[in-house]
Order: sequence, then C-alpha cells, then structure tokens
Amino acid sequence: MAKEELECSFCGRKKPETSLLIAGLDAHICDRCIEQAHGIVLEESKQTDNSDLSAELMLKKPQKIKAFLDEYIIGQDYTKRVMSVAVYNHYKRLLQPASKDDIEIQKSNIIMVGQTGTGKTLIAKTIAKMLNVPLAIVDATVLTEAGYVGEDVESLLTRLLQAADYNLEKAEKGIVFIDEIDKIARKSDNPSITRDVSGEGVQQGLLKLLEGTVVNVPPKGGRKHPDQKFIEVNTENILFIAGGAFDGINKVISKRLNMQAVGYSASMSDNKIDHDNLLQYIIPKDLKDFGLIPEIIGRLPVLTHMNPLDGETLRAILTEPKNAIIKQYKKLFEMDDIKLKITEGALGYIVEKAIEYKLGARGLRSLCEEVLTDAMFELPGTDVKELNVTKSYAEDKLSKTTLKKLKAVS
Ligand code: ADP
Repeated sequence: MAKEELECSFCGRKKPETSLLIAGLDAHICDRCIEQAHGIVLEESKQTDNSDLSAELMLKKPQKIKAFLDEYIIGQDYTKRVMSVAVYNHYKRLLQPASKDDIEIQKSNIIMVGQTGTGKTLIAKTIAKMLNVPLAIVDATVLTEAGYVGEDVESLLTRLLQAADYNLEKAEKGIVFIDEIDKIARKSDNPSITRDVSGEGVQQGLLKLLEGTVVNVPPKGGRKHPDQKFIEVNTENILFIAGGAFDGINKVISKRLNMQAVGYSASMSDNKIDHDNLLQYIIPKDLKDFGLIPEIIGRLPVLTHMNPLDGETLRAILTEPKNAIIKQYKKLFEMDDIKLKITEGALGYIVEKAIEYKLGARGLRSLCEEVLTDAMFELPGTDVKELNVTKSYAEDKLSKTTLKKLKAVS
C-alpha cells in the first residue's frame, strides 16, 4: 500500500487527517480512536472496580489486615488489632444483605488517641492503601460551624470526592481521616467563650455525617452557594477515623484511676498503674471529660490508643517498614550507583537525638536528611561508589546544622 493511502482501520480517517497513525499487524489506529478507546477502557474498569471492591474486601480477614499493617507500622499492636477488626466489621456491614432479622449492624467509626507522630495518619493511610479505597485526610481545626470563616463540615466529603476522582460510588465506600479531633473539644472551662465557633458547633455538624446521611456536597469545595451544583453523597458506608493527641487527657485518666484506686472496689491499685503510658487506660468517659460531646463519642464507638515511641521502636522505624526511611535513601543513592552503608552506631545516634529533642518519628526523617544532604549534593557524578555513614560522620554533619538549630529552640 502506498504511504498516502494509509488510513485508520477504525474511523477511516486518512493518514494526513490524523496526528498519529499507529500500525498493527493488519490494521492501523489513529490518535483520536486511541483516546476514545482509552476512555471506554477507563469507564469499564471503573465499573468492574466497584463490583470487585466488595468481593475483594470480603477476602481480607482481620488477621490478614493486621499482617498488612505490620509491614508498614512498627509496634502499636493493640491499635492494629482493634483497627483490623473494626475495618473488617465495617466492610462486613457494607455487604450485609437486606436485613431479614431486624439486626442492623452499626458503623464502626474509630477514634485513635495518641501523641503526634506515633503513626495515627500512617495507619489510616495504610488501611486505605490496602483496601484500595479513596482516603481524605482533613484537619478538624479548619472546620467551623456554617456561617463562620473556615470550612463547613461538608468539605470533608468534597475532599473525599476529589480523592475518588469524583467517582461517587467509590467515594461512598471511602475513608475519611479527621485529624486533630481534640482541637474541637468543648472548652467548657473557659466562660469567656460566648460563641464556640470551632468547638461544639462543629461537633454537632459532624454528628449526622458520622452516623450516615445524605449530604449535599459542593464538588469544588468552598461555601455553599445557591448557584453551585451539589453532589449528593451518602455517608452511610463511609468509614470515619478520627485521631488526636488530646494533650492533657493524662490528667483526666490519672484522676479517674486514682479515684478508682481509693474506692474499695478498686481492681487496679496504684502500684500496678503504668504512669508512663496512661493512655492505655483510656475509656470513652475520659473523652467526654476532655470536652467531646457524648453524641460524638457514641458515633465513634471504637476507641483505641497509640503507645509512645521508645528508642527501640524508633530504631526499628528507621529500617524495618516496607518503605522505611533508610530503605528510601538507599534507593536514592542506588540510582546514582552509590552504595549507602549506615552503621548501627549512626542509627543509634540519630534515634538518640530524636528522643533528646522530642522529635518523635517525624524527626527521624529530618535528622537523616541533615546527615545525608551533603553527600547527596556532592557525590552524584563523581567516582565515589560507596558512602559509609558512621556515628562520627553523623555527629559531624548534625553538629554543623540541625543540633545548633534545635538547641536554639529548646
Ligand atoms: P500522627 O498522625 O500520629 O501524628 P504520623 O502517622 O503522621 O503520626 O507519623 C509521622 C511519620 O512517622 C510517618 O510518616 C512515619 O514515617 C513515622 N511513623 C510514626 N509512627 C510509626 C510507626 N509506628 N511505624 C512506622 N512509622 C511510623
């Protein structure tokens, strides 16, 4: 066939009418037909995705969920078990056939209490990754009661829609992680607050979302506006996970435990209480005493806590999770054909500094960055094929920059 006679076997356009004509065995396809076909493939896969979702979820038993979490999250065994069961039950509820026996399984929304940097967000992210469902992470502090400056509670769902690429069906089975839920606690001990803009009003607004309702959501976010088209989102099958540090809740817990210990029915005498980790004794009443309204607590029925990260855990976080920080740096250096070796002494030193300056797991990353930045700047393009990071190397790099900065603030 002469070149100018080539045409798309699908639409018949001649080669000059196309921007691109790709040859197959006995046929040709033009750019436009490729795009159209791609659109059809996407549509199809969206539909199969949805029907597959439930079947796939059913396969993941709690122990499997926990095993998956173990690959990414060090320690926090209690929370991982509790979350595995809650997530499993949540999706079982989603699959329940139309009820014949009047037993309606309630939602297992979760509340995680734990210091910042202990892995709350990481757990929510890992669960969403495992289930392949959209996840929206929203800070509760940006939410305000309707009519005030800030975001309406519906914006949680706008974010979820965005995370689901506006696939409503997917969004309606997604996960919303509400961070810093403790910041919207009622500040009842502060009488000067006449209008509790960011507190109780927001909690009230969240109630119906948590329980399950149909909400008109502005797809692009922002304030509700009469001209804006809304998307109706049903929150019935959305899993809500709330997290917060609840600074000061230790006092509430300790007070309650002491009162229990004084009472003669006390089952826990003071010397058995682990004062370094009071969060492990948390009960819903403590959240109420902290300032969450009882209705919110009722709609977040699964309560769990995160343990503080000790040196051993921090050390493990550096190298053990599937995408551990050190593994990431090794990969980065490998791309320049450089083998990164880091001694146990150097790792220990980094952990020590993270603890000393109360940086937690989040600090590990910035400390590593400081230790390795010079090498990442200088070595690519040279003949150096190996970098050996020892304790003294790490000490040297950190003493120049980070530690000075940290000392200035601490
Ligand atoms: P939180 O939400 O509790 O403030 P994050 O989940 O954002 O904490 O944790 C911050 C970072 O610290 C994560 O990206 C992760 O790298 C690391 N991290 C924290 N806790 C753990 C853990 N238990 N296992 C592995 N990595 C962790």
